[in-house]
Amino acid sequence: MSDRPDTAAALAIDIGDVRAAAQRLAGVAHRTPVLTSRTADERCGARLFFKCENLQRAGAFKFRGAYHALSRFGAAQRRAGVIAYSSGNHAQAVALAARLLGMPSVVVMPHDAPAGKLAATRGYQAGQPGSEVVLYDRYREDREAIGRRLAAERGMTLVPPYDHPDVMAGQGTAALELCEQVAALPGGGPLDLLVVCVGGGGLISGCATAAHALCPGVEVWGVEPEAGDDVRRSLAEGRIVHIDTPRTIADGAQTQHCGALTFPVIRRLVSGVVTVTDTQLVEAMRFFAERMKLVVEPTGALAAAALLSGVLAGRTAIAGRRIGVLVSGGNVDLPRYASLLETGAG
Ligand SMILES: *Cc1c(COP(=O)(O)O)cnc(C)c1O
Repeated sequence: MSDRPDTAAALAIDIGDVRAAAQRLAGVAHRTPVLTSRTADERCGARLFFKCENLQRAGAFKFRGAYHALSRFGAAQRRAGVIAYSSGNHAQAVALAARLLGMPSVVVMPHDAPAGKLAATRGYQAGQPGSEVVLYDRYREDREAIGRRLAAERGMTLVPPYDHPDVMAGQGTAALELCEQVAALPGGGPLDLLVVCVGGGGLISGCATAAHALCPGVEVWGVEPEAGDDVRRSLAEGRIVHIDTPRTIADGAQTQHCGALTFPVIRRLVSGVVTVTDTQLVEAMRFFAERMKLVVEPTGALAAAALLSGVLAGRTAIAGRRIGVLVSGGNVDLPRYASLLETGAG
């Protein structure tokens, strides 16, 4: 392609930013385990290394980016507090990080967000004066506009869920750890492939930045829900494509578009994006439950689903390779989880 105007431009983050974020997160975020499964390896004909961010604080990788961003606030920003909009996991992450740093948090959440995510966010806010959840209708209202208005009214600093350098760098620490952990395993070494779910692209842009620095020659692939393939289309068209809020069980990837900062990183460092169906997501969730004893939310199973279903094997070489798989989160209401595993609907 000749028309790639972003090729020469500086990207929002580099490996130095990810390493600096790792230092701020040391002793605060969990260094989550990397698990393997012989069954998964046999099914894929490769060696899979699952980075278990479902076991991260607040149940998802989002704590990394949120805590990193809030830890860089100045004194006045800390006093006024933070505002965030999120369909769930970023909300919990910001509320917990704000509590740990002793600042107020206001979180804008969809009225139909999973009850467990709402309750957890309010739980983290309890006892922090000035903290609250503000609800909106995700099919009719613009959460970004609501967030900006409240930020202006209350003097709070808005921390977006993905399109912010500190958030991107924080999320990248998951892959930084994964590369280090796999290198240290018996028979380990650099990853050949890294597979990451994609919503707004904060996680994959940070992780691709880290992986390319630590594992030269690594291929990074993104995975989106079939109903919400905006980043796949954006890569194809060379511009950020906007879509309607997708209807999928992957509630953490119901974004309408990726970010102005994340997209150039994805374009430069990500080989491609594949999509999986809700049925394939449920199958991957079942695999995690039965074989690995892991509770993984639908969005958290995106990357694994692309491998277990064979979708990714249709796009790139899998056989015999060392593959990092980001398991991004585990926050799912138990009744919904049971219903998804039983009937495929929830
Ligand atoms: C937010 C989220 C994603 C998507 O991350 P982006 O940085 O928006 O691409 C994936 N999985 C889980 C569990 C999430 O909470």
